[in-house]
Amino acid sequence: MTNSMNGRLLAKERAAGLREAVSKLDRRPGLAVVLVGEDPASQVYVGKKTAACERLGLLHRQITLPADSSQEALLAQIDALNSDDSIDGILVQLPLPKGLDTNAVLDRIDPSKDVDGFHPENLGLLAQGRARFVACTPAGCMALLARWNVDLTGKSALVIGRSTIVGRPMSLLLDRANATVTVAHSRTPNLAERVAEADVVVAAIGRPEAIKGEWIKPGAVVVDVGINRLDDGRLVGDVEYEAAATRASLITPVPGGVGPMTISMLMSNTIDAATRRQQ
Ligand code: NAD
Repeated sequence: MTNSMNGRLLAKERAAGLREAVSKLDRRPGLAVVLVGEDPASQVYVGKKTAACERLGLLHRQITLPADSSQEALLAQIDALNSDDSIDGILVQLPLPKGLDTNAVLDRIDPSKDVDGFHPENLGLLAQGRARFVACTPAGCMALLARWNVDLTGKSALVIGRSTIVGRPMSLLLDRANATVTVAHSRTPNLAERVAEADVVVAAIGRPEAIKGEWIKPGAVVVDVGINRLDDGRLVGDVEYEAAATRASLITPVPGGVGPMTISMLMSNTIDAATRRQQ
């Protein structure tokens, strides 16, 4: 489809630049991924991150802890990675099993190694307009919009979803890019009307095809962050793709849109972390 913002393509285009950045460092950047439990989707995501490290020449270390790990054991692992000089980036795969305090775990990561950009210090810097590490998925959405020359200045942008890892940082980035941003969430009434007014729609809610194609304003740009697996095994986004694609000027597919860009931005953030530590 010609109006598709193809994240696989953009991730491939970025790969040569990332390899070159790695080659300029004194040592290979190191990414540690901490996985607690055996959630199948998390295992798939961790596998993709590992494969990307191998393709681009980064070192990777996977630490797998049992699902019944204590909070103390997990924090001790983070402390060890914080003080390990071969590790530039630390990522704790979310969601954590019930009983573990996600905020306390994210707070413990050294902000200079927080390549996911979830630490309050990094989110605070983003909110102040002097970002250090930007959360990878919203950063990937912005990279897609830039690659397809979407001028956001003065546009009305609707972000659907307000999570700390996607919706909230996304709204900050769109605001910085001079869009006029509205954030919708599960308590927002008349969502269809909001969508119909938006020049740019970013859907990050985790509800299969909840955003109907007929709601999309003709010519709007649609970024679909959602990844939802249906009972028949198919992966779909939060947007009804086929119908939305007939109205949108640009739209991301699922899979192959935002997902590959999340991984690509994680690689960038890890290389940036290594570069800063080397300096
Ligand atoms: P989340 O559950 O933390 O947050 C969902 C948000 O959507 C909440 O703010 C909630 O208020 C809102 N919401 C829920 N139902 C709604 C509705 N019917 N109408 C309007 N708003 C509604 O989820 P998340 O972690 O932000 O992830 C959102 C989706 O993005 C999921 O499908 C997730 O798998 C996907 N995701 C994809 C990537 C990627 O790389 N492509 C990365 C992260 C998350």
